[in-house]
Amino acid sequence: MSSQDPPVAQPSTMNDCVYFFDTTLRDGEQSPGCTMYRDEKMRLAHQIAALGVDILEAGFAIASEGDSESIRDIAREVRGPKIASLARCKREDIEAAARSIEPAERARIHTFLSTSDLHLAAKLQITREQALDQIAAMVALARTYCDDVEFSPEDATRTDRDFLCKVLDVAIQAGATTLNLPDTVGYCVPQDYAQMFLDVRARVPGIENVILSAHCHDDLGLAVANTIASIQAGVRQVECAVNGIGERAGNASLEEIAAILTVRKDKMPYHHNIVMNQLYPTSQMLSQCISFAAAPNKAIVGANAFAHAAGIHQHGVIANPLTYEIMTPESVGVPHNSLVLSKHSGRRALEHRLHELGHNLTRAELDTVYHRFTDLADRKKIIYDQDIVALLKPQEPAVVSA
Ligand code: MN
Repeated sequence: MSSQDPPVAQPSTMNDCVYFFDTTLRDGEQSPGCTMYRDEKMRLAHQIAALGVDILEAGFAIASEGDSESIRDIAREVRGPKIASLARCKREDIEAAARSIEPAERARIHTFLSTSDLHLAAKLQITREQALDQIAAMVALARTYCDDVEFSPEDATRTDRDFLCKVLDVAIQAGATTLNLPDTVGYCVPQDYAQMFLDVRARVPGIENVILSAHCHDDLGLAVANTIASIQAGVRQVECAVNGIGERAGNASLEEIAAILTVRKDKMPYHHNIVMNQLYPTSQMLSQCISFAAAPNKAIVGANAFAHAAGIHQHGVIANPLTYEIMTPESVGVPHNSLVLSKHSGRRALEHRLHELGHNLTRAELDTVYHRFTDLADRKKIIYDQDIVALLKPQEPAVVSA
């Protein structure tokens, strides 16, 4: 797989690394019910950095003043991942993106243009030739601000394959260092998505010098399957979101991809930088910031993901967890549930659970939260992790129904 070595300086031990590009705060945030306040974005950005993602897409700078300011705040404060801003292939977008990521230690401009005939005609009303010119000019402009530029041909999976190869050729010549081929409308099946990457790798000159990236949507429930198939076809960056949030049915779920690469290392022997026991705390924090939680039956982070209800399963798990568990709850940061929190619980138990969920409080903060906790415990028999995290907020805590 040396043909997929990253073009940027990376330790040589990472040749077979799959890079995680988190778009929770961009594609995720722009979906219904997921709007976040600036302080929530900031808190999540720190947590997503602690989760070990390689690139954090912090927003779409030109979209609003608020977006550009929160990208700037994240670029200034959050260390670890590269900080990226999205930009259309337009001068004002790229300039806004460049300004917002300017304080980052390591930054990326992610620029995109639709390339399918349908989008070119119906949405952009430009010809293929005009699209190529725009891509060449704007990728080159982005490179004048940043040596790390990602280009995405939007609707790549419905783009004529010959034209797609031409587009990628132009983007590489203009200086793109990552090429992301999104399945924007979630239409692909895994074999087709993988084949697209095999085709472009065989046909586009110089493509071995850039990182190929996947960006999948879950309209047919295949976002993660398509992403995994693409890794096996040479993709080394995966774009994904915590809890799989994103436009419409969502993006590929970060925790599922990370778990697959970890649990099935026998099939996919790639290194990644995700800190596995931060998956659940990150998922919980996101649920607290947006208006909905992961479904109870959601893989990895759902409330039932490790619940063994059937008697025969319980018996097996008690005898040996490997009978029904392919990973332990602890490995993805799900706290031990031996400790049930109720109105009888003390400050220490609450502090311990909050710590397990990624929150370390001062004594004064703990006092306040404990007071809210006892209040809630008078009204509710079972206190879920999400309730506890909600108590950190100053307003009336949201009560999660069973
Ligand atoms: Mn998307």
